[in-house]
Amino acid sequence: MNLHEYQAKEILCKHGVAVPYGILASTPNEAQEAALKIEQVSNSKYWVVKAQIHAGGRGKGGGVKVAKSIEEVRELANAMIGMQLITHQTGPEGKRVSKVLVTEDVYFKGEDPLKELYLSILLDRKERKNVVVYSTEGGVDIEEVASRSPERIFKEIIEPIGLQDYQIRKIAFKLGLSGDTIKYFANFLKAAYDAYLSSDASLVEVNPLLKAADGRIIAVDAKMVIDDNALYRKPSVAACRDMDEEDPYEVEASACNLNFIKLDGDVGCMVNGAGLAMATMDIIKHSGGAPANFLDVGGGANATSVEAGFRIILKDPNVKAILVNIFGGIVRCDRVALGIVSAYKEIGSVGIPVIVRLQGTNAVDGKRILDESGLKVQAAISLLDAANLVKYAVV
Ligand code: GDP
Ligand code: MN
Repeated sequence: MNLHEYQAKEILCKHGVAVPYGILASTPNEAQEAALKIEQVSNSKYWVVKAQIHAGGRGKGGGVKVAKSIEEVRELANAMIGMQLITHQTGPEGKRVSKVLVTEDVYFKGEDPLKELYLSILLDRKERKNVVVYSTEGGVDIEEVASRSPERIFKEIIEPIGLQDYQIRKIAFKLGLSGDTIKYFANFLKAAYDAYLSSDASLVEVNPLLKAADGRIIAVDAKMVIDDNALYRKPSVAACRDMDEEDPYEVEASACNLNFIKLDGDVGCMVNGAGLAMATMDIIKHSGGAPANFLDVGGGANATSVEAGFRIILKDPNVKAILVNIFGGIVRCDRVALGIVSAYKEIGSVGIPVIVRLQGTNAVDGKRILDESGLKVQAAISLLDAANLVKYAVV
C-alpha cells in the first residue's frame, strides 16, 4: 500500500526525522489558513504548495510550487485542488488532486550551500536483506541518474543485526557531509530506519533529502510503501489507505477477498492459485489473446466468490471472452460448476463466451453440470482444449 507524502512525513516525524513544517488542506481557504499558521511558526519567508497524489514527478508536472505570498498560496491551492495532475508516473489520464500539503520553504540561503541528496531504504530481495540506497544526485529523477551515471548511486546492505554506526559514517562521508551535519544525518538515518522497520514498510524514499543552509538534514519529500500483508497488525498505518487512489475494481475485489489486478487485455480470467493464474495468462497470450486481469479466487472458491469474480470481470468493457481455469484440489469441481451456473443466472445473460476448464476432483461431474445447464458455457477438461476455445473466441 502506498502512502501520501503527508502521511509518510507524519510517520517519519514521529520517529525523529526532521521534515518541513506543513499542514494538509482540501480547500483554498484551508490552504490560506495553513499558510498563516506556518508563517507564525516558521522563520521562512515563502511557502510550498504540494499536490498529494500517489505518484512521483509532481515537481515537473506542476504539482509542487513555491508561493511568495499568502494570496499566492491560495491561488495555487485553488488551481491544484480538483485538477488532473499528469506526471511521468501517472499515465496520460493523470490523477485527480483532492488535497494539497502546504509547507514552509526550507530552501532559503545561509552560510552553507544547499545540497539535494537522495536516500532510500528498501528490501533487497536478491540479498534477502534491507538496503540503503543513496546518492549525492538528489532532487532529480533517480531512475535517470541510474541509467546515465550508475556509479553515482551507492548501496549499503544492512545485516539483520541492524544499522551500525560505522555504516552511517560511511554513508555520510560518501555523501560529502562534514561537521555537525554528520550528527544531523546520523539522527535522520537512524530515525528513518526505525520508521521503516516499525511500519512494516517495503520502501522509504526521501528525494530530495536536503542539507539546509544551517547544516540540518531535512526530508523535503517522502514516499513510503507498506507491505499489504502486515496491515492487519498496523491499524494506524492501515487507516492511511486512500481508496480514491486505487483502482475501483481492485477495491471491490479485495472486499470479496479476491486477489485481482486489472490489466489491459481482452480475455478475462478467473483462476484458483497464483501460479495457475500466471500459467493461464501465458496460455491466453499463447492463443493470441491478452489477459484483461489477473484473478486468483483462492483455494476456498465457492459460489459467492465465483459470482463476485464474474461481476468484476464483466464490468470491464474490453473483455471479449472469459476463461475460468480451476484446479479442484481442496475445492470440488462440481461445486465450482454449480457456482458458475448460479453466477450466470444471477448476473443474467453473460453476452460473451465463457470457457470453463475444470480439472481435478469431480472434474467430469463439473463438466456435465455445465453441459447440461443449457447455458452458453463451453466446458473443457484439458488446458489445451480451453486455449483453443479462447483462440476461437477472440480471433
Ligand atoms: P516530486 O517531484 O513529486 O518528487 O516532489 P518533491 O517534493 O520532490 O518536489 C519537487 C521539487 O520541488 C524538489 O526537487 C525541489 O527542488 C522543489 N522543492 C520542494 N520543496 C521545496 C521547498 O521547500 N522550497 C523550494 N524552493 N523548492 C522545493
Ligand atoms: Mn521527490
